[in-house]
Amino acid sequence: MVKKVAIVGAGPCGVLLAHYLLQREDKYQVDIFDFRSDPRIIAFAKTRTFPITLSERGMSALRQISGLEAAVKAISLVVKGGVFHESNGKVRVINRKYPLWSLDRTNLVITLLTELTRKFAENRVNIYFNYQCTKVDFVNQQITFKTPDSATEVDFNYDLLIGADGSRSVVRESFFNTDNFECEQQYTPNDYKSIFLPTPNPQLGWQKGKVHSWRQDDGTTILLVYQLDASMSGVVLFPHDKNSITELTTQAAVRDYFQHNFPEIGQIMPDAEAEEFAKRTAARVLTIRCDRYHQNDSVLLMGDAAHAVSPSLGQGCNAALEDVLIFQQILDEYHDNLALALAQFTIRRQADAHALVELSNYGVPTSRKLFLELLLRNSLSKFLHPIWPRFFLPSLFELTAENKLSYSAIFDLYQDWIAKVKRVIGNG
Ligand SMILES: Cc1cc2nc3c(=O)[nH]c(=O)nc-3n(C[C@H](O)[C@H](O)[C@H](O)COP(=O)(O)OP(=O)(O)OC[C@H]3O[C@@H](n4cnc5c(N)ncnc54)[C@H](O)[C@@H]3O)c2cc1C
Repeated sequence: MVKKVAIVGAGPCGVLLAHYLLQREDKYQVDIFDFRSDPRIIAFAKTRTFPITLSERGMSALRQISGLEAAVKAISLVVKGGVFHESNGKVRVINRKYPLWSLDRTNLVITLLTELTRKFAENRVNIYFNYQCTKVDFVNQQITFKTPDSATEVDFNYDLLIGADGSRSVVRESFFNTDNFECEQQYTPNDYKSIFLPTPNPQLGWQKGKVHSWRQDDGTTILLVYQLDASMSGVVLFPHDKNSITELTTQAAVRDYFQHNFPEIGQIMPDAEAEEFAKRTAARVLTIRCDRYHQNDSVLLMGDAAHAVSPSLGQGCNAALEDVLIFQQILDEYHDNLALALAQFTIRRQADAHALVELSNYGVPTSRKLFLELLLRNSLSKFLHPIWPRFFLPSLFELTAENKLSYSAIFDLYQDWIAKVKRVIGNG
């Protein structure tokens, strides 16, 4: 019998999962719901989008669906390393062995949606935008949505419900009504604001295929990457408790701040962006650590809903896409027996998801001194790893980006470093 799947959340994870399920012969019929508008029709506010980088881990999940990897690469720029801009004007260049693909998160979703509706007919997939999930009834297998044009709420029944509704998941909230569910939710110390800049003057010499970063002693960090049209966009990450960025409420204050603290950025920021930046709301980032992702044979949490992490390692979306690939492998192994497959997902994914939270929270420290130590150790590891294998480790950025080792295997390698970072910041 065809199973009716409801996916809450048309983010990268939810839409990629729809591709995978619909490829499994005619076993599944899929409904996707998202509380936002259709990004293919209504442009997202700039507060809600930001560039992300995908590595081999995420790309390998896209590759399994014919045409997806090429479509995503066509809207991405290749990034091979980073440039750290020091306050004295000097730069420190880090080259990566393997490329990353940089693209806008919303453009990734648009591409996944376009390919989905091109491939599958409406009798197999329906996408409902402006549908906000408000309630889930696990017993009667029913979800409730609020829609903008209806005074009443709308109910849908499902055989399988996927909570791919991001770090503030409503589906995950409903797990608290079940027995023995534990989930730790924590804000990361840094908030962020998106930033959008025009093409920088070529005389600045900023290389295209690199992530450019600037860091202040108080931990405020700017990450910028070139976009396809040669403009630059990125994020400003700043400590929540210092509020230096949220206090900038006028164009003049923004101008002043950047010219004083990040003069290279200040000189290319147009007035219009300074004005917009002042108005853009700062966002908080949650990390999520759950002890279970499934409920019986009918509900599963995936992506950020299951294991949101800090953006420090650029792995949240890669991990969300990897979830889909792993779930597909489990469905193959268990011949679509959902009772077994859902429980297996928790068993296989939990250790990795918890490891990724630790690696993202502590692997890349905000303290400038520790950060430089990490870079130094990583750059010397090529020569010194064979002699001091636990001290000089292969680059954390490279290990997580590749998919040769699971996140828990990487955590095993890095546990001494993480213990040190926790000790220094007084957290362990
Ligand atoms: C500043 C920043 C930089 C990042 N950089 C990177 C990076 O370089 N590389 C990387 O891999 N990851 C990065 N990430 C993480 C990445 O963005 C997320 O991990 C990824 O988007 C998770 O995908 P998802 O589909 O699970 O959830 P989301 O992208 O959060 O999508 C969830 C969807 O669910 C919808 N939704 C939520 N609640 C409801 C509801 N009640 N009803 C209906 N719909 C709902 C939302 O509208 C959304 O469309 C970054 C994150 C941030 C904040």
